[in-house]
Amino acid sequence: MINTTQNKAVIPMLDVKAQHEPIKEEIKQALKDILDSGQFILGPNVRAFEQEIASYYDIKHAVGLASGTDALYLCLKALNIKQGDEVITTPFTFIATAEAITYVGATPVFVDIDRLTLNMDVSKIEERITQKTKAIIVVHLFGQPADMDEISALAKKYNLKIIEDCAQAFGARYKDRPVGGIGDAGCFSFYPSKNLGAYGDGGMMITNHYDIYENVNLLRNHGTVAPYRHRFIGYNSRLDEIQAAILRIKLRHIDEYNQKRRVLAKIYTSILGGNVQCPIELKDRTPVYHQYTIRTKKREKVAAILRDNGISSVVYYPVPLHIQEAFSYLGYKQGALPESESAANEVMSIPIYPELETEKAEFIAGVVLNALKE
Ligand SMILES: *Cc1c(COP(=O)(O)O)cnc(C)c1O
Repeated sequence: MINTTQNKAVIPMLDVKAQHEPIKEEIKQALKDILDSGQFILGPNVRAFEQEIASYYDIKHAVGLASGTDALYLCLKALNIKQGDEVITTPFTFIATAEAITYVGATPVFVDIDRLTLNMDVSKIEERITQKTKAIIVVHLFGQPADMDEISALAKKYNLKIIEDCAQAFGARYKDRPVGGIGDAGCFSFYPSKNLGAYGDGGMMITNHYDIYENVNLLRNHGTVAPYRHRFIGYNSRLDEIQAAILRIKLRHIDEYNQKRRVLAKIYTSILGGNVQCPIELKDRTPVYHQYTIRTKKREKVAAILRDNGISSVVYYPVPLHIQEAFSYLGYKQGALPESESAANEVMSIPIYPELETEKAEFIAGVVLNALKE
């Protein structure tokens, strides 16, 4: 997905090796302990990590899972969402959000996005609610918290469940509450490129509802209630001990990682703001800049000039989900969700990661600024 193997002179989108460097001895020791213990699945590290996440989010339950995609899938399954049901979400997200809906046999219903936040336009949700609507999957895209108050009010009015897709928003805050703990359940990914990244795949589901917790907890491990006793048919979707141990170490640094992203974002916005659409910071919201995404009709030219200067850039996401070939069966036409389509044509993300030096961010912003003026 992300090319981090470009030659060394290039400023990459992300530098996972730089993040590893200062914690490598601690991680080596944790891995050695696991190898010595011989316990690789559902052991003390997963349990401790779940407790640490629950405490970070001040929430009752956390379940370690194999991926963020599985977190969404098992959560929908736990809520008994199934064939014939509709789930509202954004078309401007990574495909996993909508894939999870199809895995339980339900139909994704896409709502257009807001031009500035790039998240679902809450004024367009109500008109898409039908008798079949069961839930809304809210995505806090690029680390920008979505409009949770408005969405919670709609969910209450129509008796819908809210699942927060926080794959890109670990640690982001909405009115001083971390996103993921506001809806009925929060789903996280620890894919290596996420703000809290493992050294392989991993995911987590958090909730205050005991029934959702119990279901996801059993679903991840073949519905096992006691050794070789299975309440229902489940899956193999467990976070493993090695990833949990690595994530426990990184969790201690996540606020500092996110803070560094916010400092870089501030530099970018101070230089680029007014010249190009930059991410916005709304009152009472603390985004965590999983991506720093600008918007320009000249993005090919800007990308080319960045490349000439040894700077990476990526388009997330070039094709919104409603017009992806994979979702052609849903019957959306080109032009159906114009804001999503226009964003897909104009957005580009520039490097942002905690280890990026502030001087480099100033350099990158300068190159973007010049490119815009050409
Ligand atoms: C990464 C991501 C996912 C999927 O997470 P995986 O751990 O890769 O399965 C889901 N939703 C969004 C918005 C993502 O960015």
